[in-house]
This record gives sequence, C-alpha cells and structure tokens, in this order.
Amino acid sequence: MTKKEEPPASQVPRAVRVASLLSEGEDLSGDDQGDEDEDDYAYERVPNGDWHTSSLSSSLPSSLLTPELPPHPMDGLPVGPTPTPLVIKAGWLDKNPPQGSYIYQKRWVRLDANHLRYFDSNKDAYSKRFVPVACISRVAAIGDQKFEVITNNRTFAFRAESDAERKEWMQALQQAVAEQRARARVSSAYPLGVQGSEPHDHAGSLELRGFKNKLYVAVVGDKVELYKNLEEYRLGIGITFIDMSVGNVKEAADRRSFDLTTPYRIFSFSAESELEKEQWLEAMQGAIAEALSTSEVAERIWAMAPNRFCADCGAAQPDWASINLCVVICKRCAGEHRGLGAGISKVRSLKMDRKVWTETLIELFLQLGNAAGNHFWAANVPPSEALQPNSSPSARRCHLEAKYREGKYRRYHPLFGNQEELDKALCAAVTTSDLAETQALLGCGAGVNCFSGDPKAPTPLALAEQAGQTLQMEFLRNNRTTEAPRLDSVRPLEKHYSVILPTVSHSSFVYKTASAGKLLQDRRAREEFSRRWCVLSDGVLSYYENERAVTPNGEIRASEIVCLAVPTPDTHGFEHTFEVYTEGERLYLFGLETAEQAREWIKCIAKAFVPPLAEDLLARDFERLGRLPYKAGLSLQQAQEGWFALTGSELYAVFPEGPCEEPLQLRKLQELSVQGDSENQVLVLVERRRTLYIQGERRLDFMGWLGAIQKAAASSGDTLSEQQLGDSDIPVIVYRCVDYITQYGLTSEGIYRKCGQTSKTLRLLESLRLDARSVRLKEGEQHVDDVSSALKRFLRDLPDGLFTRVQRLAWLEASEIEDEEEKVSRYRELLARLPPVNRATVKALISHLYCVQCFSDTNQMNTHNLAIVFGPTLFQTDGQDYKAGRVVEDLISHYVVVFSVDEEELRKQREEVTAIVKMRVAGTASGTQHAGDFICTVYLEEKKAEAEQHVKIPASMTAEELTLEILDRRNVGIREKDYWTCFEVNEREEAERPLHFAEKVLPILHGLGTDSYLVVKKHQSMEAMLLYLASHVGETKHGMMKFREDRSLLGLGLPTGGFHDRYFILNSSCLRLYKEVRSHRPEKEWPVRSLKVYLGVKKKLRPPTCWGFTVIHETEKHEKQQWYLCCETQMELREWLATFLFVQHDGLVWPSEPSRVSRAAPEVRLGSISLIPLRGSENEMRRSVAAFSADPLSLLRNV
Ligand SMILES: [Zn+2]
Repeated sequence: MTKKEEPPASQVPRAVRVASLLSEGEDLSGDDQGDEDEDDYAYERVPNGDWHTSSLSSSLPSSLLTPELPPHPMDGLPVGPTPTPLVIKAGWLDKNPPQGSYIYQKRWVRLDANHLRYFDSNKDAYSKRFVPVACISRVAAIGDQKFEVITNNRTFAFRAESDAERKEWMQALQQAVAEQRARARVSSAYPLGVQGSEPHDHAGSLELRGFKNKLYVAVVGDKVELYKNLEEYRLGIGITFIDMSVGNVKEAADRRSFDLTTPYRIFSFSAESELEKEQWLEAMQGAIAEALSTSEVAERIWAMAPNRFCADCGAAQPDWASINLCVVICKRCAGEHRGLGAGISKVRSLKMDRKVWTETLIELFLQLGNAAGNHFWAANVPPSEALQPNSSPSARRCHLEAKYREGKYRRYHPLFGNQEELDKALCAAVTTSDLAETQALLGCGAGVNCFSGDPKAPTPLALAEQAGQTLQMEFLRNNRTTEAPRLDSVRPLEKHYSVILPTVSHSSFVYKTASAGKLLQDRRAREEFSRRWCVLSDGVLSYYENERAVTPNGEIRASEIVCLAVPTPDTHGFEHTFEVYTEGERLYLFGLETAEQAREWIKCIAKAFVPPLAEDLLARDFERLGRLPYKAGLSLQQAQEGWFALTGSELYAVFPEGPCEEPLQLRKLQELSVQGDSENQVLVLVERRRTLYIQGERRLDFMGWLGAIQKAAASSGDTLSEQQLGDSDIPVIVYRCVDYITQYGLTSEGIYRKCGQTSKTLRLLESLRLDARSVRLKEGEQHVDDVSSALKRFLRDLPDGLFTRVQRLAWLEASEIEDEEEKVSRYRELLARLPPVNRATVKALISHLYCVQCFSDTNQMNTHNLAIVFGPTLFQTDGQDYKAGRVVEDLISHYVVVFSVDEEELRKQREEVTAIVKMRVAGTASGTQHAGDFICTVYLEEKKAEAEQHVKIPASMTAEELTLEILDRRNVGIREKDYWTCFEVNEREEAERPLHFAEKVLPILHGLGTDSYLVVKKHQSMEAMLLYLASHVGETKHGMMKFREDRSLLGLGLPTGGFHDRYFILNSSCLRLYKEVRSHRPEKEWPVRSLKVYLGVKKKLRPPTCWGFTVIHETEKHEKQQWYLCCETQMELREWLATFLFVQHDGLVWPSEPSRVSRAAPEVRLGSISLIPLRGSENEMRRSVAAFSADPLSLLRNV
C-alpha cells in the first residue's frame, strides 16, 4: 500500500527549508498520513546561535566515520547519563515531498546506534523525526539515487546526491540494524517508549506552543520524548527527545503552563489542569535529577562502547554492575545476579552505590568490563540459549545460572583442570597488567587465596601488591570470596531434564493482608486476611485468587525480599503468621492455620532469598532473618551487606568477607543505641572488643530490626539469667546498684538496713528492670537507701532466688556443719553447682557486703547485721529461719577462701580500702562527714606520676578550692599574675577547658571519661583576656571564623568535610552561626550557658590555624554536638574565649584576691595510693569491692 508519486528529481528545488518541526509530508504507508502533511505551523524557536564550537570526539572508531562529517551541535552537548551514541553517519539528504507536493525537502540526516533522525539543518539540536533503529525492518533501494527506510508501519524515503552516497547510507543503515539485532536479538519493532526495562515515568497529552494538535509526551528516565500522538508513541516513532541533563523546568505565568528550557530551545507546554501541570513538573524534575545523579559513574563506565549494553541480555543503558565479575548489567539481570548470591556475583548500582566506585574500580571496568567479561564468560553461547532484553525472569535466571554459576559458556583456559598449574599461572599473571588472563584463570578455578610459595608475599594479592599492580589487586579483592563455577552444582535430576528446576518451590492456600508501608503496630483481625493460593516457584512468590486462576493478583520476587520475620504466636488473628519485607519498603503479612504449615512456608521463603553464603542461618529457629548494610571490624569506610538472624537474645551475622563470627549476645551488650538523624540512622551495638554498626538504608525493615533487637537486648523475664548481663555474667541491674553504694553509700549509717522511700524505690527498680543499661545513677538524684532497697527488692523477688529453689535447702543445711573447714568446702561445692549467672552474682554481692562491713564503725553494719538483713532476702525466708542469716555471715567471713580470691586482687583491694578508710577518718577529724565524698586524682602542672595528688572532693568543692588545695599541698606560693587554674584535659579531643573558679568539681568528675583528667596549672591567656575585657564591653562579639562540625559517629572517622568560613555572633544568650556576613537568618543557634568551650582542636581534623577551640553542646536529650572553630590570630582567639567567659558567668571572670588567701591549710594529706575508680569498668568495680584481708579490723588498726 505504499504509494510513491514523485515528480522528476530535476524539478525539485533542493534547498527548501521549512521552519517547522512538523512540516513533514512523509511518504507514509499508514492511512493517517494525510493529516500530518498539514501540520505546517510556524514553530517559535529560540535562535540556534553559534554552536559550531564542538567537534566530534576523537575516540570515534575511524571505520565508522564518514571522512568529512560536519560538526553537529548535539555531538557537543554535555554528556548525560545516557551514553551519547556515536554518530555513525550524517549528511544532507533529500526527504520525500509530502503528499500533494512536488517539492523535495533538504534534511540533515543523522544515524547513530540507536536512532535515525533528521533535522531541518545541521545546526539544530532537536530533530523533526526520530526512528529507532530497532524499528527498521528493511532498507531498500528504489529509483534513481533514492532509498527507503521501512518500518512495520511507516516507510521513509530519501534521495541521495549520488549512487555512491546512497550506497554508503544504505550500508550504514543495514549495518546499524544488524548490530542492533545482534545486540537485542529482537526482530520486531521495539518502541523507544517501552524499550529495555524502563517504562515511562509519566506520559500523556500536552499542548506545545506552536502546534495545532496536542502532542503525546513521555518522560522516560533522563529524557523527555515528544510524539505526534499516542499511536506513534506506541510505534516508537517520535518527533524528538530532550536530554534533561541540559533541561530546566519553570512554571509559567498561566496556571496550567510551564516551560522546559534548554540552551537551544524553549518548549512551552500547557497541561489540562493545574494538578496535571504539577505532575508533569515533578516528572520532569525527576528526569533532571536522574540525568544529573547518574552522570558521574555511569558516564565514565559507559565510555567503553560494550559497557553501554547489558552484558547478559543486551538491554541499553545498563546501570548496574557485578563488581567481582566486572560486567555492566541491566536492572532485570541485576535482580537475577543478586539471586545467584554474593559468592557468585556482587551486585552494585552505578547510580546509587556511588561510594563503591573508586577510581581504581572504574578503571578496572574500563579495562575489563563487558568486552573482556563476555569474551570469557560468553565465549560459547548457543543462539537458543541467548538472552534478550525482554526475556522472561525464568529464562534470565536459567541463563545466568548457566553462565556464571556453572560456567557453561566460558572459554576454557588451557590449564583447566590442573589446579596446581592454574594457581601457578595466577601468581604469574597478577604481577603483570594482563587482567583478562587473571579473569580467565579465576573463572577456571585458580585459587584466589592460593599459596604462592613466597612467604613474603604468600598470596596472589600480596604478589600483585609487590608488583604495584593496583588493578589486579582490586580485581582479586573483589573476588576474594567468589566461588569458582562448577558444572556439578547442577543436580543430576536437573541435568537429566536439561532444565534448571526451581531450587525451591512450594504452594498452598495462605491468608494474607494488603501490603503495608509501615510496621504493623496493631493486631490484624482474622477478617483482614484474604485466602490466596500462593505459589513459590522460580524465585517468585505469587499469589492468586484461587488455585485455578491464571494471572496472579501479585507477586514478590525472592531477590527483592530483604527480611523475613516471625511474630510470636497469636500476635494477629491467625495464630501463626510471618512477615515479608521487600526492597521497595513494603511489608506483607501472611497467616496460616497450623504451626507446621507456617514453618514450611518460612523455611521455603528463607531458602529462596538467602544466598548459599548465609545458609547456616537457616538452621536456626530465627525470629527475624534478612540482609542489612553494616560496618564492622576494620572496614569502617564502606558499608557492606551482611546477613543476620535473630534468635532469642542472640544475633547471628554472616559477613561476605571474614570468618563466621560468634553471635552477638544482645543482653550482654555494653551499648545499644541509635545514632544519626532520622534520615540516616545507625544502630550501634557494642560488645566487648567488637562494635557493629547497622545502617538504616531502608527505613521499613530497619525499624523492624531495631524494635526486635532492642526487645531482645532487654531483660526478658524476672529470673537472673534473663537480665541484661555485664561481661562477667553479673546482671547489669546488680552491678549498677553495687557500684553506686560503693561510691556513695559505704559510710552511710544503716546502709541496707534502712529502707528507702517506697515510691522512689519502686520507680527506680522499674526503670532498672526495663533497661538497666541505660540507667545512670547520679548522686543527688537517688538516695543511697533508695538504691539499696531497690537491690534488696530485686533479689528478694527473683522467682528462683539467688541460690535457686533446688539448692536452697542444701545451703541452709550446710550452715549447720560444725567443723569450719568442712563447712567452707561444702559451700565451695554448692557454689560450683549454681548456674553461672547466679554464681557470679553471689560472688559480686558477697564481695560488696564484705566491703560494707569494713566500715561498720561508721555505717553500723557489721557482718552480723548485714547477715540479718540479707539472709531472708537472699533465701526468701520470712526471717524465722536463723540459718539463712548464718549462711550469709559465713560467706562474708570466709569470702577469700570460698570464692578463691587471689593475692594480687587482694593487695589492690587492700590499698583501695585503705584510701577509703583514711578519708573516713579525715572526715571525722575535721568534724564534717559527708556520705559519699570521693577521691580523685589531680595533677599539678602536668600529667605524670610525681605530680599526682589525691584529693577528697566534697559535693560543695569549687574549682578554686581544689586549685588552692593542690597548691597548698605542694607548698606552691601564689604570686601576683599567676593565674592558677584547674583544667579539665581531654586527651582524645586534644583539648582542655579551664574550669571557671566558681564551678563545682564533683559534677565534672562524674562526667569525666577515661581519657580525661584534671590538672592545676597557670592560665597563660588570663591576663590578656582580663585586659581585653577591661577595655571592652564584653557582652558580645562577632566575626568570621573557620568552622567545622563533628558529624562523625563515635569517632567512626567518616569524612565530614573540612573547615569553612562562617560568621558568628555571640551575645549573652546565644552563639549564632551564619553562612555569611549578609545572611539574615542564622543557620544554627546554641544557648550560650549550656556550652562548654575547650581550647584546642584535635590535629586529625587538620585545623587551618593553631588558634582553635572546640565547643561542645549537650542537648536536653544528652546528645553531644561538637563544633570546631579556628581564629586567624591568637588575640582573636583570646577575645572570643574572654567573651564566652564573660557571658557565661555574668562578667565574673576571675575571683577577687581575698578569697585566694583566706583559706586555711587542709588538715589531711594523702600519699600516693590507688583509688576507687569514679566510674570504672565492671572489673575495676569488682576489684574495688573485693576482699581486703581475712580480718578487716586488723587493717583498720594499721591505719
Ligand atoms: Zn540484562
């Protein structure tokens, strides 16, 4: 039905230019072409200007180029994420005249790998027509110098100037079509709008100014495509497409209109409604974001032509990659790669995983990439087994299993089968730049960790390092855990049928609810579940209306599943349920009638989505299973994906690298906290000697894990072993109370006998039971009697008692043994029989009581009195049975023997108790006795042993009093202008803070970390500061400083950027930060009174000047924020610090002289002794309260 009525060529003027985008009278074979011939409307165009600045990239393969190709504006456009296709041929051709006309139109025609386009001129950026090469079915010569480009529905005819030129065009077109087919292996037309795996993001009709009829517009990825109408959109033949990397969208004055502007042209669109306009704006802005977001990595990797098409199926614009196989793949193939497991393929996104893409890795992809990858992996693919961009998921899976897991299509290395030779060849190859050889050897089974025979460089990796082959190193590192392909991984049955059977399949009726976008807080009633026929097969979980339905209601791909959780029975309307979380942040709840059915489904789904690497996790009776990004061990720079299973209070983890680790004991964690902001949360789990950071990359499953882990880390019941435990198996709740009494209650009269206030005691106990780890007991907030009562109550209420129901009687009977030696050995025997947690707790408690009775002349609690209190508490008797008390008395008296306390431990404790006792005596002598005074180490001038002083710090002591006491002790005279000051030094931050003279020392001691200490020395800047303040009104200061914020989590060392100039204003209420002097609104604002100002900035942060200071702000939620500030000069720094001092302390910067001399010399001096730790570790605590000697009274007598 193609009609061609052309006038003789000689009658046609050659250079007719029609200034319209749609002035085409195409020689169309369809029946609607008559209309578009009329589409001859002036198009409002932005002058095209001078774009003759660019030339073709020199990297073009010369064979593909016509020798004198005129430059084209599009060739010089900024390269977007879509690889700008190389121009295969371009030139002037005559385009067939429109129907009813005899005038040929001169057109600039351009052919690249993807499209045949023609333009009004070679200066135009936007075509009048584009025909996807994939749509071209045939190219044929007709008449004189003419040829036709035939698609399924349309035929386009062109006339060349000579036969030779026609021949060139036809050859170029035919070759492009052949290559496209080879790549896509699609013979039918492949419309651009639905090409590859990317459907349009938004599409519909829009008015474009200058056009009579509405156009059909589609936003696809990073492009906006214009079509004449919906039909052409479906055919894939369009007008032009706009690369959004140069696009910008703006709302126009009219409510329904908006402009898409590019450097070359403005497209003024009108939508049907305001709402529709909003949707278009959003979609186009999305396209711009996509164009810009992907440009970096993808553009560079696509620079090699083979990387522009999926290594497996040939789909265009692949934006995923397997970093160990070193191939670029499309999204669909990436899903299947993930299904192969990280042992076969480590899948990363070119767009999203930007941190992965180091320079070295990108270079590796440029050198190996799809060309080398397929040269090896796809050397022998039978056409019948080849993949196409639109292949089904099962075909894809089957092909990829064969390709990478079995190595079915690979090019066999000559050494294949000879392990020793392969390993030897690998060791040789890695020292050269021959990456393809390394790839071939590894793919044929050479051992990536084989022994090289050289102890100095025992592995291929070490050899590569020695040889300076960084790319080889990168490749080896990425393949450290890769499993070599194995044909025998196919089961015999599958071989027999020559198809890969789905690894897991299961089907039955299951009840399911609609998927949710957030965690399920409420019980889901039985009525909310619908009965569905569920089929798990081929890595897809599909659910159907009934067992006969053909089309599923929906499906979940196993590769998308990120977590599988099993709520406790009866959480919902169905007794047995399980939850499936997907990558797309959806939660699916399934219910089953019986436990057995539920177990079977859970097992099958787990098997379907957990890779072989993490298979061990499946053996556990998990409550939650899935993958999460984490950081741990030595590799804190990059998050990796690990597999986790939560079972009871144990968290099992399988990491892609590194050996299988012991599970984390969640109830024994030292810290469990959530850091970061709501956008970027990190769950921090600190166990002794290891820390795990779990990142909340996906919100939904992270929140699920967070709740489950927090619950598992809390006390799970009332028995001892169900409590949160310290690392010596002592419940944290016991440790917290004992620690507090040791610090503040040893000299408190009637300690443990007196009762606290019932309401306070109960409240405290409740918070300790809820989460003892997070409870910090502070002096002034809790009375020692409340804490002691809470401890007693906890022990009395233990369901099984400290000595257990079973053994309780045996203990009581043992107390009646008359022979002391026999009795003690019986206690030892019984102790050994207690469960570990009980045993550790008994020891900790008795050692504490032992310490308490040492102070009995103050606290009136001797061993006997303590036994009267604790006997009934520990044995849960009513007090009638005197034997209970006798056991406790015996245990305290024979502490050293019963609990095998060693010499060293004893010696240390003796010293520490001596210090406590001395302080007690000192307190009595001066006539003031404060329960809970404690002793602190303070240095004079610098931190060294000789400069150590041990000072009792009463609650009322100020920094000035402490300073003077230290100076008095050392007989240091105070001269005029010696500004002696007490500093709090933080060694980790490399900063120090001069305490204000009126500051109370005790709260500071409580806040001191292990890397901080107090030192008394001269304040070198004080005089200058006082002079400055005397000559200024010191209430405000403003100016520029170099600023840097600490956003790193727990010193993780995440890059946080450097120092930047900021403008600051400090006044009596706030410190405000402005982006620049002219800014009106502060970026940040901190209340000045809660700030702590430290001199110095740690060197690791590379402060730009040496006059820096650190400001710490502790929020009401006890979160610490840190700012680092640097001044240009020392004077500047002093002025800022002086102003801080001034505003924080109402102008009282330095004490008046009289107070400095009015102080009497202290009466008590202490020698150099080791002291009770203020906030020690558990071991330190236990040492401090452990045995002193068999007879504490003798100790006291020696004082
Ligand atoms: Zn693919």
